Formats: sequence, structure tokens, C-alpha cells
Amino acid sequence: MAARRLIWAAVLSVGWCWAATAAGPSKPTRVPLVRTTDMDVGQTCEVELCDGSRATVKLLDLKETRDAVRGAVRRAVVTVEVNGQRTELVAATYHLPKTIAGVRIDCAVTRGYIEDSRTGNTWGLLKDARLRLWPAGSPLVAPDTFGFPLRMQLFSSDTQMANEPVFVDGGEVPGRRETYYHYGLDFGGAEGLIDVLAATHGLVVSAAGKTLPGFEDTPVAPRYDVVYLLDDRGWYYRYSHMQRIDEHIVPGVRVQRGQKIGVLGKEGGSGGWAHLHFDIKSRQPSGMWGTQAAYGFVWEAYVREYRPRVIAVARPHCLLWTGQTAVLDGRKSWSATPGRL
Ligand SMILES: [Zn+2]
Repeated sequence: MAARRLIWAAVLSVGWCWAATAAGPSKPTRVPLVRTTDMDVGQTCEVELCDGSRATVKLLDLKETRDAVRGAVRRAVVTVEVNGQRTELVAATYHLPKTIAGVRIDCAVTRGYIEDSRTGNTWGLLKDARLRLWPAGSPLVAPDTFGFPLRMQLFSSDTQMANEPVFVDGGEVPGRRETYYHYGLDFGGAEGLIDVLAATHGLVVSAAGKTLPGFEDTPVAPRYDVVYLLDDRGWYYRYSHMQRIDEHIVPGVRVQRGQKIGVLGKEGGSGGWAHLHFDIKSRQPSGMWGTQAAYGFVWEAYVREYRPRVIAVARPHCLLWTGQTAVLDGRKSWSATPGRL
């Protein structure tokens, strides 16, 4: 009897092992258009772009400006040389890539946003700055693979986008030592009234706290109000604070771009604001999982799908003592008619 039990135990454990190794993420089948390089000041590197052309990039300088109230990074500017031409880039926080010397380039994040971050190194950055490159004229993400993640005419945020310090939940109270730099995109919307859509074709890896087996070494952190999708680039899309997740959105199901997955809400650490938190995680040059800055991707998709006449942007927000002066810079705004802002 004991021997028979032993055989059964062996069969069960072999079966379990097979199931565990057969599960988990499959290899990415699509190469993204974006190329990423993490650099220290003084470093030079050559980057092969998605069209096979090459760009030489030098990181010449990094300047981070902190506010006087909490000492959080409010602005980070890198000076770079691209194919021999020098330019400045403001890191993330509502800035789109710049075109210079045949290249589109942005700076997604810099070291200061990591150093005193309450959420740790969510960017997977171990150097001074992260630069991302595309050929001039290239979309940031292939248009047939990415869509606006909401059925909503407004592209707006009551809360914060990109690296902007989080101010909901008392996040900006003076005296706090660490800062919660936001790493995703928050879209404000009416609770229970806005459809949340799959931004990409993908596999539902996790929904409402349940996750497929074999996804331990991934960015997935299951929660009752959260859905994770995995696309064929190997990117993980997180949707948080959902009021409802559609009942057929369960781990293992495949979804199509534009398909409804649930409804916008204010669940789970939303600070009481109805919004969708949307972020993408991918492997970074450090080998770590890290945020794939998606503001430009979403901007492109929104302009393509909703054809707005104007997008007005005067963010990020400022934090200052009485008597100080704030500058809200509207130059990041956009008009469908060039020169008519
Ligand atoms: Zn958020």
C-alpha cells in the first residue's frame, strides 16, 4: 500500500512539474519600434533603429530641479548629442519625443526619480537617464497594435501622468521624505460610465486577483480591481481601479484591440478619484522589468481615433510655499492646425 502511494505521489509530482513548465509566458513574436538605451553622463553609444539605420548618441549632461517644499524632482533636463547635433530633452511628464538629426528621441526617466522613490525602482533604471529612439517620421508604436484604452472623447487626467509626483492620498504633504513618483498614466473619467478597452491584442494573464500559473517572474501583482494583458511584444499592460471587470475577462482568454474589458472606477488605492491607472512594463536594458513610458503611445492613438482639434496641456502641477511663483507651461499643447494655438 505504501509503495502504491509512493508511485501515485511520483506520478502527481511529474504531472505538476510538466504543467508548471508548460505554463508561463511564451516568447515575444513582435519587435517593438522603440529602441532603448540607458546611459550615464559622459557615455556614448550607437543604437540600431527599427529601420536598420544607426544613430550615435552622447549623454552630455543631466540637470534635475527639485521643489523647495518637499525636495521632489519636478523637472529633469538632459543634454544629448545625436548624430553630432546637440539638443536638450525634458524627461517625460507630458513631453513628447523630439526630432533631431534624422531621429525621434525622448528621455523617459532620470536617476533622481528613482533615488527617493517610495515605490522603488519601478523603471528598472540603473544609470543616469533612459533615452528612447525611433527613426524620424516613425510612429512610436505600430498603429495596428495599439489603441486608446478608453471609450471616451476626453483625454484628461484629474490625477497625474508619467513621472509627476502623486498628490492624491496626501502624497504631497510637506515633511514626507519619500515621493511617490507616478510611473503610469491616470485617465480621469465618470465612475461606472466609461468602458475600459484592451489597448492591444493580448492574453489576459491576470484579472480580479486570479493569475495564470507560471507568471511569477513578471510584473504581475494580482488585485481584485486589476487586469493584466500580455501582448506579442512581451509587454504587460496593467489596468487598475476598475469598478467592474467583464465576466468573460478571465486568465487565459485572448482579447482583441478595442475590446471592452470592464468599466472605469475608483477601487483599490485610487485616492477616491474615479480614474483608470494604465501602465506598461517591459524588459529594460538593465535586464530588470521596468515601466515603458506610454504617454506618447496613448497620445498618438487618441489623435488617430478621436481627431481632436486641440489638446491643451499645462501640466505637471507645481508645489510651492506662499509667496513663491509657479510657471505653468502650455507649450506642450497641440493643435490640428499648425501654428493655431
Ligand atoms: Zn495611477
